[in-house]
Amino acid sequence: MRILTLLIFMLTMASCGVQVNSNHAQYLEGTKQYAVSASVFEPYITSFEKNAAQNLNESDFEVGDIPINFGDTTNEDYDGVCNTYSDGTKEILIKKSWWESTDDIQKEIMIYHELGHCRLGRDHDDERRVVGTHTYKMSVMNPVIPSSSDYVSQKNAYLTELYLYDKSALTSGFGI
Ligand SMILES: [Zn+2]
Repeated sequence: MRILTLLIFMLTMASCGVQVNSNHAQYLEGTKQYAVSASVFEPYITSFEKNAAQNLNESDFEVGDIPINFGDTTNEDYDGVCNTYSDGTKEILIKKSWWESTDDIQKEIMIYHELGHCRLGRDHDDERRVVGTHTYKMSVMNPVIPSSSDYVSQKNAYLTELYLYDKSALTSGFGI
């Protein structure tokens, strides 16, 4: 029973795939596969831009030419990837089977995480803090993205960390 529980737990964790290099994003030969984003991702891109404008105080912040589409993440364990190509283009690919199996909050965190790589140039941040029986992930840039409940309870603090690398609001928000 314990093994089954562990297995289910592992299956429910959504991970962002990256290969080890300085940018924590996949580098591939060639060029991006898509010219524009699939419409299903547009609301997430718009909200990422709005949140970036607020946190960075840049009213004209735009994601720009980083299309997001369903596609092959090149590794079965990866639910999303930020690809950078040899011609300088970038794109984000999301595993469709994962997208269709998860909730709206996980979808938002995953898109923000991948845009964190592709648009903000962020690497992974795997800092975690354990309080009692709960482990708090201190960034949406954790290679296994935070739970929906933690994210919802401290969304503004997670966004402050994402855009400004500032964990103070998260620390006080979780009381840790
Ligand atoms: Zn990642």
